[in-house]
Amino acid sequence: MKQTPELDRYQHNMRPGCITLKGFLGSDRRCLTEILIDDDAEVNRLGTTHETIATRMQALRDAGTAGLGEPITIDNKYEVRVDDVRGKLACPFEDTVVQKTFIQVKNTDINETLTYTDLHIHMIKEHGFYEGHGSGFRLPPADLVKILDVPPCAGEDTANHIQTANEAS
Ligand SMILES: [Zn+2]
Repeated sequence: MKQTPELDRYQHNMRPGCITLKGFLGSDRRCLTEILIDDDAEVNRLGTTHETIATRMQALRDAGTAGLGEPITIDNKYEVRVDDVRGKLACPFEDTVVQKTFIQVKNTDINETLTYTDLHIHMIKEHGFYEGHGSGFRLPPADLVKILDVPPCAGEDTANHIQTANEAS
């Protein structure tokens, strides 16, 4: 499949050693266009949107920062730990630089854990990019939907509302 010179450049940025040591594509040999199209179709199939997934990731991240690096329980269901690491990372799509922050979310109902970064949130929201197959940091959309309980569509106000300690009491 043909892709634009621009996407070629972004794909180049994703190689190991360019922005991150391991890169963003793992063993994936598809061109970036195909990776984006395939994940877009997958998200569609799951009945949600990149924006909704990213909003959910961001909401759990924001709620988790109250733990100041220690795990805290949110909604009686998630153990969230947010670690701010010194430094910033450039987005391979060349539009921004984001803080290095690691977010770990354990869904205690199903006992499954996901780890993601602020860069993931940005890349999913703005570019619909979940990293290549075989990348250790890839976030399969189906896992995000299952573990983070991403709502089916952009019902932002209710579905992405995180209950705070005050409201719970
Ligand atoms: Zn970007």
